[in-house]
Amino acid sequence: SSDHLRHVESMAQLPSGAGKISHLNAVILGETLASEENDLVFPSQDFSRQALVSSPEQYRIMYERSIQDPAGFWSEIASQFYWKEKWDPEVYSENIDVRKGTVKFEWFKGASTNISYNALDRNIEAGNGGKVAVYWEGNEPGDDDQLTYAELLEKVCQLANYLKHVGVRKGDSVVIYLPMLMELLISMLACARIGAVHSVVFAGFSAESLAQRIIDCKPKVVITCNAVRRGPKAIHLKDIVDSAINESVKGGVPVDLCLTFENQSAMKREDTKWQEGRDVWWQDVVPKFPTKCAVEWVDAEDPLFLLYTSGSTGKPKGVLHTTGGYMVYTATTFKYAFDHKPSDIYWCTADCGWITGHSYVTYGPLLNGATVVVFEGAPNYPDSGRCWDIVDKYKVTLFYTAPTLVRSLMREGDEYVTRYHRKSLRVLGSVGEPINPSAWRWFYNVVGDSRCPISDTWWQTETGGFMITPLPGAWPQKPGSATFPFFGVQPVIVDENGNEIEGECSGYLCIKKSWPGAFRTLYGDHERYETTYFKPFAGYYFTGDGCSRDKDGYFWLTGRVDDVINVSGHRIGTAEVESALVSHPHCAEAAVVGVEHEIKGQSIYAFVSLVEGVSYSEGIRKSLILAVRNQIGAFAAPDKIHWAPGLPKTRSGKIMRRILRKIASGQLDELGDTSTLADPNVVDQLIALSDC
Ligand code: ATP
Ligand code: MG
Repeated sequence: SSDHLRHVESMAQLPSGAGKISHLNAVILGETLASEENDLVFPSQDFSRQALVSSPEQYRIMYERSIQDPAGFWSEIASQFYWKEKWDPEVYSENIDVRKGTVKFEWFKGASTNISYNALDRNIEAGNGGKVAVYWEGNEPGDDDQLTYAELLEKVCQLANYLKHVGVRKGDSVVIYLPMLMELLISMLACARIGAVHSVVFAGFSAESLAQRIIDCKPKVVITCNAVRRGPKAIHLKDIVDSAINESVKGGVPVDLCLTFENQSAMKREDTKWQEGRDVWWQDVVPKFPTKCAVEWVDAEDPLFLLYTSGSTGKPKGVLHTTGGYMVYTATTFKYAFDHKPSDIYWCTADCGWITGHSYVTYGPLLNGATVVVFEGAPNYPDSGRCWDIVDKYKVTLFYTAPTLVRSLMREGDEYVTRYHRKSLRVLGSVGEPINPSAWRWFYNVVGDSRCPISDTWWQTETGGFMITPLPGAWPQKPGSATFPFFGVQPVIVDENGNEIEGECSGYLCIKKSWPGAFRTLYGDHERYETTYFKPFAGYYFTGDGCSRDKDGYFWLTGRVDDVINVSGHRIGTAEVESALVSHPHCAEAAVVGVEHEIKGQSIYAFVSLVEGVSYSEGIRKSLILAVRNQIGAFAAPDKIHWAPGLPKTRSGKIMRRILRKIASGQLDELGDTSTLADPNVVDQLIALSDC
């Protein structure tokens, strides 16, 4: 196609020796790309023409500058924000090497700013006070609301004034246990405005998990609501908070104040259990406070929030992010990875209880003056077309979600999608786990009408923002690859001995040097921070993920390294096998683990769930195995297929392989901590089906 030629030509024009940066060398050679033609999906010429980064060479120039002159690159970007005090000439300092002492990252040291000011006041001063900041869509279709930037600021100021009034000071922590109401964003921004450290706990976590987190960070206030509706169910959040606070009192951490929003559509205040003296209705106090609140200027390195990782691999870690670097990084990654323009309407389906909701529902978009859709409900309520109904209702242009949602909607069939227009969509996004090429193609072809580039963003709670991501107008994409590093990010692939390996290869994904959005510590446990992330491969940040790089320099995430299976000496990524299984037309989702095997060392054990209307049979079992043999090879064929009507997932939608590993090897008394599971019943169901 002409688009293809244009890209190949523009790549071929680059001086071939130009990039000292190895991963770019392969890709700037036009001929390499041409041979990969079938795997490449090109942005349309119209899309690229209007894009912020519209060609590989433009990316390359910006990327090289960001690596060669990080201080210059980032301080130019940072200058677009308001700083009460500018940073020292140094911009950043880092020690990423444990052998050289304590690991420490600092960005914009000496500067002071406020992220809430930059997200709200700065946009209003620029003339956008009347622009919609948040469209809120309730669980029930037809239940909605909205706030302009000016209105949002007023609400934030009222809560900020209230929090100050009850004694919350800079550096104090506040736990927020709220569903996707506008009050959740308001609470985060109000804390930030007064320099308090928020810790949002996903409002689906059990009382026990909430108590653990309260005990860990000792909040001055807990902010919650009485109840929420998700789909057809009402969940009494206040009851959960009550028992969590009882637990934390026993653990020696009393909570003096529980500010409770009355969520009238879910529960009336008369029906809510109440503890006089401790519990206060939001609606009774907050609206009485002034709508203006002076900003607390904080040091760039003052903590902004504390957030626990999703716990896929064990006990959740309290990740601490600071203010200045995080602000600059989330804003910049949002802008480029989604090609954000002022006219866009952006919707991210993640909950603010996860890092994705922090960086890409609240801070990144609002720092860019974006209009954000916030959705309270469930994507399959009242039916599986709800997402596209919302897309049409608000004319959403940028839609960001997770592979698990893509796969579950794919399983329901195209009809739910195609009955909506979706013409407004411009860019799609994916995060959370590797997206299988078959799910990628469905997302691209059916949801995006083969028109919208997909930003498959690889990053982590720890990284604060995107690390490896397509820039939608710049690169031809390969379904399932997160493509290339973001500006300022130096990913490297290392072998078992920690040596960097070049070119086409696979190994452990590490990051060299620091980047502004990096987490600064694990709360209260800097030693665990160093041991977990910086000791495994000295001199690097270790991501925990496996990765390969193809001959064109594209990065492919292969899953967590502790999920790599070694069968008779073949190292097989779980993502690869799962992808082959999911490409089978009857397979909706798959999770693969390794179990001990006398001869092979490990063998492959696959849990699969099937698409609507298909029942499990011997014929299906055989054809699933055949799919893996054909696509990867006989060595990767699963020894066991375990039919799974549902898979154990964290509340952020990730499959918990550590539990599947125990089920597969029959160690049923060692299932471990299942408190972060979305639906613990799934585990019993799977155990019951073990012998099918
Ligand atoms: P824990 O660290 O507690 O086990 P977690 O790693 O699931 O939990 P997150 O920080 O939310 O918590 O998830 C980051 C991880 O998600 C990455 O390390 C990676 O394994 C996976 N991931 C996220 N986005 C992508 C993506 N686009 N492609 C591949 N993997 C991804
Ligand atoms: Mg992790």
